[in-house]
Amino acid sequence: RTVYVNGDYLPETEAKISIFDRAFLMADGVYEVTSVLGGKLIDFDGHLARLERSLNELDMKKPAAFDDLLEIHRELVRVNEIEDGLVYLQVTRGSDGDRDFVFPDPETTEPTLVLFTQSKPGLANSPQAGKGLKIISIDDLRWGRRDIKTVQLLYPSMGKMMAKKAGCDDAWMIEDGHVTEGTSNNAYIVKGNKIITRQLSNDILHGITRAAVLRFAREAQMEVEERPFTIDEAKAADEGFITSASAFVMPVVEIDGQTLGDGAPGPVARRLREIYLDESLKTAV
Ligand code: PMP
Repeated sequence: RTVYVNGDYLPETEAKISIFDRAFLMADGVYEVTSVLGGKLIDFDGHLARLERSLNELDMKKPAAFDDLLEIHRELVRVNEIEDGLVYLQVTRGSDGDRDFVFPDPETTEPTLVLFTQSKPGLANSPQAGKGLKIISIDDLRWGRRDIKTVQLLYPSMGKMMAKKAGCDDAWMIEDGHVTEGTSNNAYIVKGNKIITRQLSNDILHGITRAAVLRFAREAQMEVEERPFTIDEAKAADEGFITSASAFVMPVVEIDGQTLGDGAPGPVARRLREIYLDESLKTAV
């Protein structure tokens, strides 16, 4: 596999980053994941806009012009022959060669920019979409700026492990009795044809797939309510689903052992998945 590191395309075994890089020592970095379908990038503009926001919120420098970032994405998709899969991009604050809590001087410290690809043949035809996900609920023990897409992913990773140990697929996180989001996705329930999902704030990541799916839902005259919902409300819902760049729209069929509806992926989730895949391909680059 060819990867990109600070201006160079290299075999992955030759890529090098300083051990003093602040992402390694302090999780001082942000990232984006963009899906590739049929060799094209899905929702690319949205991912770059969110990257810019994450960088601004953390006073981090832009690592490259955004036109150049598109070119790097395309070049990696080309050389690695990615038909379906994803491109991972990470920007870190870099380092001035030592460990210090204080940010290094941005005048003299360059950010680190890394990109790599993952091939996922048949990404849009995942058998999981036909079965739906089993979810557990866990406390949301993350920090308070979940709107910034940082590489600080230890708790979400622990959440996935808790789900796995419970024989489930993923976890939804709960704060003050209400669902914030999934470990790596936004969470939705459907009750009486109404789609309910938490409103945007610092409490959740502003999903790029979420924005697109809600826009398509409204365009299709589906009713959307953006508000917090409790885990009990979720367990009593007709259906559930999640959205993310790599899962698109994925039905949820069970929460904490409680079956939703008839236990099969619901009609709203299935329809939104279809619409999202159709529509997002039209704007793919
Ligand atoms: N919430 C969290 C915590 C996530 O990690 C992700 C995926 N990165 C999402 C939501 C979904 O965001 P997107 O649709 O932009 O992939």
